[in-house]
Amino acid sequence: MNERRQPVLGILGGGQLARMLALAAAPLGVKTLVVDSSADACAGQVAPLIVADWADYAALEAFAAQVDVVTFDFENVPAETAHWLAERVAVFPAPQALAVAQDRLAEKTLFRECGLPTPAFMTVDTREQLDQALAAVGAPAILKTRRLGYDGKGQFRLRQASDATAAWAALGAQASRHGLILEAFVPFERELSVLAVRSREGDFRTWPLTRNWHVDGVLSMSVAPAQDIELLQQRATDLARTLAERLQYVGVFALELFVKDGELLGNEMAPRVHNSGHWTIEGAHASQFENHVRAVLGLPLGDTGARGISAMFNWIGELPDTVPVLRAVDAHWHDYGKQARPGRKVGHATVCAPDAGQLVAKLADIAAALKRETQVAPVLEALA
Ligand code: AMP
Repeated sequence: MNERRQPVLGILGGGQLARMLALAAAPLGVKTLVVDSSADACAGQVAPLIVADWADYAALEAFAAQVDVVTFDFENVPAETAHWLAERVAVFPAPQALAVAQDRLAEKTLFRECGLPTPAFMTVDTREQLDQALAAVGAPAILKTRRLGYDGKGQFRLRQASDATAAWAALGAQASRHGLILEAFVPFERELSVLAVRSREGDFRTWPLTRNWHVDGVLSMSVAPAQDIELLQQRATDLARTLAERLQYVGVFALELFVKDGELLGNEMAPRVHNSGHWTIEGAHASQFENHVRAVLGLPLGDTGARGISAMFNWIGELPDTVPVLRAVDAHWHDYGKQARPGRKVGHATVCAPDAGQLVAKLADIAAALKRETQVAPVLEALA
């Protein structure tokens, strides 16, 4: 009898996304192996972990020899590392797709080519160019690093043109290394994201649109399916499909969108499973994590339909009391096993219900018990 060999999925980056990927891979009989430079990376609590940095090619060689496919929990893996691995083992999404999403300029240029408008923007490499960009784009505006920014990091908000000096003091040093981009500040009506998955054979699906609320640039709450979106679902799905096909993308990605005057504007693309898709674990037939594993391993994709309506609370900095969530019906607790630290994503909770009215009642009860009324207020207002 032949010995059974289970597929092994290699994951670059060992944060909570890798952890949730590993947890979704297990029921499919897929083993995981994670690489992270930190020995206490939280995915290491649920999957074997190789502790190595992105330039440790001896460790990467050993990693590549043990895995069938490599994927990412972190989009800022250096391009050289991704290309080097792709010469040895299947890597999904492909390094070329990753490269586009690593650079806000390449990303926004691609959005426009695919018919998705973006906020007005200009690249900024010098202090003089910042003034020129401000004159062109206008204030208020946001100065962002082109690379390596996430969760509002590497960003400076300019209320008026005279904030340029402070903005340059904050980010100017990064201009020569990563380049900067000045974007018009969009007074958006809402923020949405579309989570999408494309298989190795080109099968493409989206989950219902998610509505998101950020605080200080970090996701605070999500609700899905987003309500009262009318034609935007079809438009977002079509745009995501166009992008995925242009990039020959394989796996899950998120497209973050602003809605302004009822129209979609592209903010950014995350070439990986995404925080705004965590509700899919309990709120959809197949989660983003399961479908990412299926896609990169060449398995058929699962159903992306929602079960009822779900809301996700992000726990930033520290975890609140678990009991009110654990006591509630169809409410789900996720502790990432990380140390509490200001600004750090340490867990989330998803609350599911058959309809918006029942969801509102449950959210209000949980928020009151946790003293999280402020966090949940915009969601209750939107669902009222
Ligand atoms: P980002 O890291 O670019 O996704 O930015 C994080 C969050 O900051 C977004 O989800 C928005 O809430 C806000 N933000 C970023 N860019 C803009 C913009 N051009 N106009 C208004 N808000 C923005």
